[in-house]
Amino acid sequence: MSEVIKALVDGEFIVSKSKTINDIICPLTQKVQARVPHMLDSEISHAVEVANEAYLSWRFVPIMKRVRIMLKYQALIKDNLDALAKTLSKEQGKTYDDSIGDLTRGFEVVEFACSAPTLLTGEYMENVGRGVNTFSIKQALGVCVGITPFNFPAMIPLWMFPLAIVCGNSFILKPSESVTKTAMFLAKLLVDAGVPKGVFQVVHGGREQVKLLLDHPLTRAFSFVGSPKVGAYIYARASENLKRSQCLVGAKNHMLVMPDANEESLINALIGSSMGAAGQRCMAIAVAVVVGNAKRFIPKLIEKLKDVKPGAWDDKKAAYGPLINKKALGHIKSLIQSGIDEGANLVLDGRGYTNEAYPEGNWLGPCVFSGVKTNMEIYKEEIFGPVLCLIEVDTFEEGLKLINDNIYGNGTAIFTASGAVAAKFKQEVQVGQVGVNIPIPVPLSFFSFTGWRGSFYGDLHAYGKEAMTFYTQAKTITQRWFEDDKDEEIAFNFKA
Ligand code: NAD
Repeated sequence: MSEVIKALVDGEFIVSKSKTINDIICPLTQKVQARVPHMLDSEISHAVEVANEAYLSWRFVPIMKRVRIMLKYQALIKDNLDALAKTLSKEQGKTYDDSIGDLTRGFEVVEFACSAPTLLTGEYMENVGRGVNTFSIKQALGVCVGITPFNFPAMIPLWMFPLAIVCGNSFILKPSESVTKTAMFLAKLLVDAGVPKGVFQVVHGGREQVKLLLDHPLTRAFSFVGSPKVGAYIYARASENLKRSQCLVGAKNHMLVMPDANEESLINALIGSSMGAAGQRCMAIAVAVVVGNAKRFIPKLIEKLKDVKPGAWDDKKAAYGPLINKKALGHIKSLIQSGIDEGANLVLDGRGYTNEAYPEGNWLGPCVFSGVKTNMEIYKEEIFGPVLCLIEVDTFEEGLKLINDNIYGNGTAIFTASGAVAAKFKQEVQVGQVGVNIPIPVPLSFFSFTGWRGSFYGDLHAYGKEAMTFYTQAKTITQRWFEDDKDEEIAFNFKA
């Protein structure tokens, strides 16, 4: 009998009484690794009520006491790094080194949370009127909720709860149902670090449970990271309920390759950023826009990619692991077929890749399309797999326009030897995170992670006609979730 994943409610690790269960399938073997109950309405509501109770006293706990819990938590994560990374790799499929990276970026946020005393100071001004002084203070919001995706099981939850909690909020995490073991390991360490009961809780489920959280009168703020359609739904529903929300969603990141780029660093960067983590990164480079004579780099890129092989998480030679599940693999393969049908050239085809040790794994070797056009499905859709699209353009301006016309604006990069060209790109590209000769420009924890346009609902950069059209479409598609209809696309592996 496989392990049943517990939830953390009111300081206790509990087994839900729900009969609706989601199997966690090993991406290497297809064996059931664990079973996650989708929690009952009453259990979710109880967690929210407990969180609110906890918040009412936690907000008054002296700041240094709150910080000390984070200091201890950071040390506990470091002490357990190896065990955490193995848990993460086994359930998610990513290589051990990738899991260490996932965790490291996460505990850097915990370290940052320890600077809360200086971050939470307010403002004071004397004599705004004769004898009248004014001050502003920062206060906790209340019950905050995080809904997180499968691709960074440690880093993304850690983006959220350490900061929310140290500020005096209580927090409920609803992790992706594919990667609950890592979430529960992180939860156990926070309990060990001394977080009071109810201040941090973990609940499990999918659409129904998220809806309950969105509609509960005591939840105040939502952080979501995941797919654009679900993000649009959560943003719309939270806003309709007059709650604060930030939703970091999809991406289609472009690299502009100038003819004067350094060949070796360009090719290494392109391989790592397009294929690393099996392309399941919101900051992966999915499109290389090749300017003029830079097309001479392509044959060498393809040659080097032929040596890039996926493998099991503990295979030191593996460049990346299997895809998260068969559904994702099938979706990516159907997109590849659409690329072929629409006339792009599949110059490197990884569909035939097999792995002797794990023949049942969700494998896909590196794939590269050349001759991609912006009206093709492989360009318009987020593929989220090890598939790189190449588009040739004649000029820098043409490449820049193509990038700015894309609906998403999460990350981008330019490879060039010219400071002037790099400066112009930095200034004029309409994308939140920009790398110059760096392929994945992810900021450290003390900067915000700032997708723009269709990649982020919830701040002023989610602008633009295309982003609006997309958001409206996504909202319309998900309208039926408001009305409680069944949605086939999110039919989880339910078993009574
Ligand atoms: P997903 O949208 O399927 O799931 C994300 C979360 O939403 C999970 O916790 C899931 O249980 C929940 N969910 C799923 N369907 C729901 C519904 N109908 N109603 C309410 N909640 C629902 O995303 P995923 O497949 O886990 O993650 C991949 C996506 O995440 C990609 O689109 C990727 O670009 C995006 N992503 C974005 C960023 C970023 O910072 N912009 C970072 C990482 C991942």
